[in-house]
Amino acid sequence: MPVSGLPPYDTQNIFARILRGEIPAGKVYEDDFAFAFNDINPQAPAHVLVIPKGSYCSFADFSASASDAEIAGFIRAVGKIAKDLGLEAPGYRLLANMGEHAGQEVPHFHVHLFGGRPLGRMIPG
Ligand code: AMP
Repeated sequence: MPVSGLPPYDTQNIFARILRGEIPAGKVYEDDFAFAFNDINPQAPAHVLVIPKGSYCSFADFSASASDAEIAGFIRAVGKIAKDLGLEAPGYRLLANMGEHAGQEVPHFHVHLFGGRPLGRMIPG
């Protein structure tokens, strides 16, 4: 269920369509809880998007409404993907944009996983 005051889940959003296999994606990982694929406009040598399999609009929605199993499964998948990509030793960054002020473009909760070079300041400017 979406968070009160926020729009309902849009089943036609692009990540929902990727999950349904309606449009292609550069798949990196999949399990019962998470699907990961390369960002189409990478901002670092490694730029992977990790999304839950469930229909959650945003971090606010996911954190409030997902089951404990979904949350644990998703977080463990993010850690496994980073490790499998060899990013643990050099380090990596996770980012989740939530809502208008963060510039969230796609209304299906996703975590950006960046790595492969020093990533600079956390927030520009
Ligand atoms: P956000 O601003 O946090 O909502 O990020 C959305 C991200 O989705 C951006 O980094 C886009 O480059 C990425 N993106 C949009 N469409 C696709 C797609 N079809 N395949 C992979 N990444 C996409």
